[in-house]
This record gives sequence, structure tokens and C-alpha cells, in this order.
Amino acid sequence: MWKARRVKVYVSVDMEGVAGISAWEQCLAGGDDYALGRALLLGEVNAAIEGALEAGADEILVNDAHSAMRNLPPGELGGHASYLSGRFKPLYMMEGLDASYDAAVFLGYHAAMATPGILSHTYNPRAIAHVTLNGTVTGEAGINALVAQHLGVPVAVITGDQYVGREAAPYCPGIEVVQVKTSVSRYAAEHLHPEVARERIRAGVAAALRRELGPPAIRLPATLEVELLSTDLAEQATWLRDVERVSGRTVRITDDDPLRLYRTFMTLVFLTRSLVETS
Ligand SMILES: [Zn+2]
Repeated sequence: MWKARRVKVYVSVDMEGVAGISAWEQCLAGGDDYALGRALLLGEVNAAIEGALEAGADEILVNDAHSAMRNLPPGELGGHASYLSGRFKPLYMMEGLDASYDAAVFLGYHAAMATPGILSHTYNPRAIAHVTLNGTVTGEAGINALVAQHLGVPVAVITGDQYVGREAAPYCPGIEVVQVKTSVSRYAAEHLHPEVARERIRAGVAAALRRELGPPAIRLPATLEVELLSTDLAEQATWLRDVERVSGRTVRITDDDPLRLYRTFMTLVFLTRSLVETS
């Protein structure tokens, strides 16, 4: 990959897609197996960093985008990577990315709510049932790709189960998919041994970053159609400008500006957090 200038790689880190993780107790602070989950996550993040270094990266930013967004021990990150942690981040899973980056990596991603992937959800499992982007089912990767497209940054790699790659591929041309586990259901998966998973991630990142890749190519204007779990949530979504109700529980947002579309969607997600019923 390119040289004679700084080569910058951005890593957006989720957790549910990491090999060895199959339960919320492994990926939420306070869970009885959270320490194991964090160790597994760190191993994969460092494998991605190693692959990036191998391909010539000399500046790496790790954006911790899962739950409380401080799941990693900063001093143990390889490559002297910078670490973006904590909430609240306006661009959430894509915070910190800018046009100066050469590539983005989506690590530990999980499948969309509508698919049977391990721990599948789309931002808020208690509010969002299904999302399509330009008519095709999308998970968080496709939605996050809107930001990468706006900034002109290729999404080079995604890691997770057997569903995440095919969800991201329609939006991220040439994306390298590293499958580290096979989901059996939303609560069971068969995992590669962590060392094997890490080796595949290292090799996948190194190979992808050596290729010439374009940024996401989502047709504009783009349309997100969001099916919510209740009519109340759909009603609330329409309080936002440019959100149109298409049926009882479904709303639609169309925009020719991918960043503005992402922001409207994220605001909708934040709004849903105020109206989720607890029972
Ligand atoms: Zn997550």
C-alpha cells in the first residue's frame, strides 16, 4: 500500500462478532464472563493492527464502538494505536474517521436484527426490527458505510460470522470478509480457535490494505427504510425532519447526502432509547 506519506488506518470495533463470544454476559460490563470477552476482543483488535502494520500503516486509530465503548486496555493495543473510547460520540461507530484515512476496518461486527446471526441486532434490539438500504437488508456495516462514503474512505475488511460479509458487500465494493465463527442461532455459534481467528484477521487485513479499493458506492439519493417494533416508536421517529411514515411500524428516510442520512438515522436510534418499554 502507498508510501512516502503517512498511511492511516481506522478500526471500528464492535464485540459480538469476535470468535469465542456467544452471550451478552461476555460483552457487557458487569457480565460474569466479561473479562474473557475483553481478552478475546483485544486479541482480534491486535491481530488487525498487526495486519495493518504489515501493509505499511504507520498511524492507526481504534474506535471502541461497543456498549459503554471502553472495552479495551489502551496500553495493550499494538502499533502504538490511538484509542477513541467512551460515550457520547456524535458519529458513534464511525466517530474519529475523516478524509485523511486510507482505509477502514470493521472488526467484531454482528449481523442485522432480521438475520439469525449470533447476538444479531441493528443498533437497538428493543426498538428496531428491520432496516433496508436502497431496498436491500442492511446491518450496522451498511449504515456505517454511509459515513465512509461521505468521507471517501474505503471499507477494506469486515470480521464476524457468516452473515456480516454478505450484508456489507452490496455497499462496500471489494470488501475482504474474514469469517471467524459460524452462527447456529442468535445465541449459539461455532468459533474458530482464537489463535486461528487472529491469524486469519491479520492476513485478511494485510491483504486487503495492499489492494486498490474504492470507497462505498451507495446509490444516491439513498433510502433507509426502518421497521420499528411498535407504532409508538414509528410515530416518534416522524418527529424528525425528513422521516416519513410508510405504514404502522415503518418509516422511510431518503437523502442525497449520505452523512445527513446517517445522522438522521442515528437521531432516530437515540430517540428510541427514550421510549423503550421495560417489562
Ligand atoms: Zn456491539
